[in-house]
Amino acid sequence: MLCRARIAIHITNHYAAKVYTTDAPITGEAVIRVPRDTHFDRIAIQFAGVAATRNYMTPEIDQVLHHFLLLEMPVQKTHPSLLPTDGILRAGQMYALPFHFVVPEGLPFGTCNQRCEHPSVREHHLRLPPTMRAWGDRDDGSPDTARVQYCISVSVLQRTAFMPEPVSVLRGHREVNVLPAYAEDAPLDVELGDKGGEYKLAAFKALRKTLVSRRIGTVAVQAAQPAAVVLSSDAREASQARVALNLRFVPTDRISEIISTGDEASLPAVHSITAKLIAKTYYNTSHMGAFPDRNRARHELNFGASLYYSDSSRAMNVPFASADKGWEQQKEADEPRAWETTLNADFQLPMDHRKILLPTFHSCLLSRTYTLRLVLCIGPGRTNVALSLPLQLVVQAGPSAVPLHVPPGNVSECEEMDVALPTYKDHVFVQKRYEDEVHTHISLGGGIIL
Ligand SMILES: [Zn+2]
Repeated sequence: MLCRARIAIHITNHYAAKVYTTDAPITGEAVIRVPRDTHFDRIAIQFAGVAATRNYMTPEIDQVLHHFLLLEMPVQKTHPSLLPTDGILRAGQMYALPFHFVVPEGLPFGTCNQRCEHPSVREHHLRLPPTMRAWGDRDDGSPDTARVQYCISVSVLQRTAFMPEPVSVLRGHREVNVLPAYAEDAPLDVELGDKGGEYKLAAFKALRKTLVSRRIGTVAVQAAQPAAVVLSSDAREASQARVALNLRFVPTDRISEIISTGDEASLPAVHSITAKLIAKTYYNTSHMGAFPDRNRARHELNFGASLYYSDSSRAMNVPFASADKGWEQQKEADEPRAWETTLNADFQLPMDHRKILLPTFHSCLLSRTYTLRLVLCIGPGRTNVALSLPLQLVVQAGPSAVPLHVPPGNVSECEEMDVALPTYKDHVFVQKRYEDEVHTHISLGGGIIL
């Protein structure tokens, strides 16, 4: 009976919603079957990562693919007995080829060889980006013009006299979802008075009882940059977020006198704090050599403005606790009337099983950042004071992570695995314009064999 030519890729302990994080193994086997004797020069088993962006705003739609990751399993070297030595796959026979990949901690240096404004930009570009816009029915808040996909791909390659590169005569691929884990970065270098910037850590406002009444004073609110929120390795849970706020109230002379008579009820109360998490996806069809959420005035390295897409569907009321002592009068001589207090707001980002929060990242063509927009309702006139804080999201290293360093006693057991571990293919920043008529699907099979 004739069988169809096919490559089946079986991944051990895999299921559709499985997420692979840094150092997680991806093992399994590729089973190849051909209907007639088929000559081959090489079987390529690869773990590949591709980023793709599109720009519909230009007269001709601009589309770019960046193959940022390519690991190859040297199966012919490690398991020569599994393949026929004469280079012909026999009809009807099954060839089961094992593979073993580990989600790497970083990308090879050549992945980003374009100009970067600062070494820290390059350092971010040499990290793995998370899977984006490829989570099935879980919405990650990205536009369909920006995508990151990972796959295991298997190809049977033949050399021909007419083509310089081997040609794939049979190919199969299977997508896997990756959420890489990285440590929290240092707080951003954000200027407090940065007008028009993405982030605003301080704000002040005049307070009045009603819109038309006289001022009672001014309030200044300043926030410390919050620590990173840690996502579980499958991004289904998130740690608590904490924002520390400092409030400074300078009453007018009239109110100051009232307060000095012991009527501290004239000090403004904070009635509520609401927060909105804004997920921003920045993308470009050229290399982004600067962090797109910072220093917008100096973005000549991003070859024109980056496009961005905002998802602001997560809003919450934030419970907060005032400092025990409440408002305290400042003793400094420069502004003897000023009062200060601190607030700590602890809250949980709302999680939704139909959505997924991606970690913060910056890569050559794409970035994801989060802004926490806080609105404090203060004083007798319920005046709103708004702040925009950078919030970093990081993924916790997963339980499936394998130890990087094998204890000395276990060397023999792991010897075979070490030999079989794939290495990076030598590659430079491969950035190809592509023209396919399919608007939302990237053909992962195409172009990743080098
Ligand atoms: Zn780069």
